[in-house]
Amino acid sequence: MNDPTADTTRPALPEGPRHRSLTRRRFWQFGAAAAVTAGAASLLQGQFAGAATAASSQDYFDRAAKLAGDNPILTDLVSALTSGFTVPHPSAPDPLKIFDDVAVLSVGWVSATAILTSGGIILIDSLTSPTDAQGTLVPGLKALGADPSTIKYVVVTHAHGDHFGGAQYLADTYGARVMMAPADWTTLATSNPANAPARDLDITDGQQLTLGDTTITLHYTPGHTPGTVSPIFPVHWQGTAHTAMLWGGTNPPTATADKQTYLSSARTFGSLMKRAGVDVELSNHPFCDYGLERMQELSGAPDTADNPFVVGTADAQLFMQVMRTMVNGRILQDQESSSSAAASTATTAVALAGTSPGRAGCYC
Ligand SMILES: [Zn+2]
Ligand SMILES: [Zn+2]
Repeated sequence: MNDPTADTTRPALPEGPRHRSLTRRRFWQFGAAAAVTAGAASLLQGQFAGAATAASSQDYFDRAAKLAGDNPILTDLVSALTSGFTVPHPSAPDPLKIFDDVAVLSVGWVSATAILTSGGIILIDSLTSPTDAQGTLVPGLKALGADPSTIKYVVVTHAHGDHFGGAQYLADTYGARVMMAPADWTTLATSNPANAPARDLDITDGQQLTLGDTTITLHYTPGHTPGTVSPIFPVHWQGTAHTAMLWGGTNPPTATADKQTYLSSARTFGSLMKRAGVDVELSNHPFCDYGLERMQELSGAPDTADNPFVVGTADAQLFMQVMRTMVNGRILQDQESSSSAAASTATTAVALAGTSPGRAGCYC
């Protein structure tokens, strides 16, 4: 499981066509860092492969940092996946269309993503509460010229309160259907947290959900919770088609066995991303991926051809590689820790721990 020679895919160099303007130069800087770190990673892997002793968790964390280089999307991810990370609570950004057909509505530390189709809105997550739905989601959509009464589906990535909190309000107010994986519906039924939506539609693994002219695919990515779901969906920027992913739950769970599940999901999802040609990386917790800063950059240059959320297929894969490397390290860290045996039996408690908004058990 912790073979340090595993997952040795070298980070590819960034793609050329989109490197224009200021953002182009920035990504070239990242590219240079990636090229350097690719070599560094190979050296490190060579050290692992030739070492008589097993790699340590720190070896993985060091490798992840080198893979991330100076890319702030990746350094944010490394920070967020580091044990003891403290969730920041930045100011809420203004609502923003980050693509022609995607809007982000955020309270700062957690965001909802609206996919605007010809047949209405698919909302990914619903913020922390009915108050957020009424005070942030609804006015935010209206400010962007989108009609909240056309929300047809609320896809809840997982059963933590900062993602499902506004769902029942949207169901009651607009007749939106609320969707979640069965495992997390079960979690809600057994824990009955505040603002839990009534059980509605089950998400199946690999389900294709079509609304109007848009079809999104919903993949099971258990780990953060047993029923975490991550979507892959088409987006457009200035009319050009791209393919986006949104990782449903990033904070590694406490139990080692659950971290191993998470790692397996990250591997599988990375392959699915590659097959789908994912070149856009999104998160429901923007501090995990430089999301607020990218929103700010885009809002300051709304006509740019170089959308900062379009990272390219190579960097989208690198994002997942950094994630896997960090989680590999966290698994080893558990095994190095004298408390790992206790943590391994804590699966159920962890599954319930994050059901209150803002609890340390949930971010990303
Ligand atoms: Zn969560
Ligand atoms: Zn969360």
